Amino acid sequence: MNKPERVFVAGHRGMVGSALVRALRTQSNVELVLRTRQQLDLCDNAQVEAFFARSQIDTVFIAAARVGGIYANHHYPAEFIRQNLQIQTNVIHAAWKHPVSKLLFLGSSCIYPRLAPQPISEASLLTGPLEPTNEPYAVAKIAGIKLCESYNRQYGTDFRCLMPTNLYGPGDNFHAEDSHVLPGLIRRFHDAVLQSQPRVVIWGSGDPLREFLHVDDLASACLHLMALPLERIKQLTTPQCAHLNVGSGEEVRIGTLATMIAEAFDYEGHIAFDTSQPDGTPRKLLDSSKMHSLGWRPTITLQEGIARTVQHYLAGHTTAAIELAGRGFIERPQLRL
Ligand code: GDP
Repeated sequence: MNKPERVFVAGHRGMVGSALVRALRTQSNVELVLRTRQQLDLCDNAQVEAFFARSQIDTVFIAAARVGGIYANHHYPAEFIRQNLQIQTNVIHAAWKHPVSKLLFLGSSCIYPRLAPQPISEASLLTGPLEPTNEPYAVAKIAGIKLCESYNRQYGTDFRCLMPTNLYGPGDNFHAEDSHVLPGLIRRFHDAVLQSQPRVVIWGSGDPLREFLHVDDLASACLHLMALPLERIKQLTTPQCAHLNVGSGEEVRIGTLATMIAEAFDYEGHIAFDTSQPDGTPRKLLDSSKMHSLGWRPTITLQEGIARTVQHYLAGHTTAAIELAGRGFIERPQLRL
């Protein structure tokens, strides 16, 4: 048997990283190299440098990032720009210095101008002003793409870039305020059911349109892209526009999303909209035709993905709640599911 491919997943405990690990574990001849934040601080250049110097990594997936929804981006802009710049700069530079054969950098659809023509093509990058609510994060991610392109151009590295649409799934952040809309609403509707609340408040007008991709579909896209010969990818990209979009193509109104999540919980109360909260960018649908032409397709519909994510959330929540109930801290929850 050939020597196993040593694959480093940076950020393997996050939603994207853990989906990548699940997908990579199904592949033969892969040896995963994983480090927790306590073992390796990716913001610390000396630690990253020493790790790459001794680890003989073949392939890198950069799934580590400081991420969050509209509220977190608004309240912690300094952390969002600084930590993302540090993580990606440290890992990309070390991956060049202690040569890996391939690296995948993951960005976000918020790299595109706020009013980019829809569906958003890769060529829209840097053609207009960004959405102000997440500009610092977006600027860091754009810098990550430009780092990869620059190393490829100057040093001939094979650093690839994938820009996912709004992601969700197991391992997401279900915080009531700091999260993205889909996990945030799962949390909110679940709390409403547990506490018999007559109404649930959604931020903004409910009118913005968003595209959602289940994180397991993203993981399959990442592995698909990394398995392709570089020449095949170069037919669709240029040295100055090397990134590719990945989305589900399924677009939904935030108000409709709220109704879908309410239905998943059998919640029959009222859904209210707090228009004093920001809507963010009005529409964000990616043109994923290049990834499609490379032979990748998503397989999980939004409805199925919401059902799976609700089950995942309930499994974690119920375990924690029953444990607390057993220790007399809270009352045993009455789940209606
Ligand atoms: P975005 O796609 O970068 O804007 O990120 P978000 O997932 O944070 O927000 C998407 C849309 O959902 C925005 O229009 C928000 O105003 C709206 N939204 C409605 N309720 C919530 C909520 O509870 N949490 C979040 N994060 N967004 C919400």
